[in-house]
Amino acid sequence: MSLGEIQAKINAVCEGAGRNPADVSLIAVSKVQPNERVAAVLEEGHRIFGENKVQEAAGKWPDFREQYDGITLHLIGPLQTNKVKQAMQLADAIHTVDRPKLAKAIARHAQDLGHCPDLFVQVNTGEEPQKSGVLPAEADAFISEVRALDLPLRGLMCIPPVDEEPSLHFALLAKIAARNGLEGLSMGMSGDFERAIGLGATHIRVGSAIFGERVYG
Ligand SMILES: *Cc1c(COP(=O)(O)O)cnc(C)c1O
Repeated sequence: MSLGEIQAKINAVCEGAGRNPADVSLIAVSKVQPNERVAAVLEEGHRIFGENKVQEAAGKWPDFREQYDGITLHLIGPLQTNKVKQAMQLADAIHTVDRPKLAKAIARHAQDLGHCPDLFVQVNTGEEPQKSGVLPAEADAFISEVRALDLPLRGLMCIPPVDEEPSLHFALLAKIAARNGLEGLSMGMSGDFERAIGLGATHIRVGSAIFGERVYG
């Protein structure tokens, strides 16, 4: 799909849901994609991107930032505490805050660096053992903990289980956000971003629909 086609879908869902399309950020997830494809999307004028590994982000985005103005980079993958500082230097937003140790490391580096990316707490809405994120039942307490550290918490993020109806997970995330007074909702990928927008997504993370299938290895 072209960027224009995706934006048209975003506009259509927003119109149906009575939402302003400007309130939905399209994050183009460029992980594993060849630099030529990423450059092509930059040339089309898109500026909001997502990566899920710090190392990979470090390998391409400082160069792209030199070539193109106004880039916003979102880190959407699991984050180890030993990569926190580098992540905070590279990214404008981190979507995967999911444990006290990580939140504390971010707070410490925010002091040193004098700035902090926008943060999202990842919620493991499907309670999958292999997936990162706080459990729904622990989300309120963890959100309070992050706030107590005086961090710029913008919202919540989830990745629904692959074999379940995503709408239930999007609705659960929206409910947890609402009762905690959070406005940001990072939810929806290539296969389900329209449903996510219908349920309030403010940040959709779309990879393969923009860039084509990822080729690993
Ligand atoms: C890879 C990835 C995406 C994009 O997935 P697509 O199905 O290609 O759109 C979105 N969110 C996260 C966390 C990802 O790792």
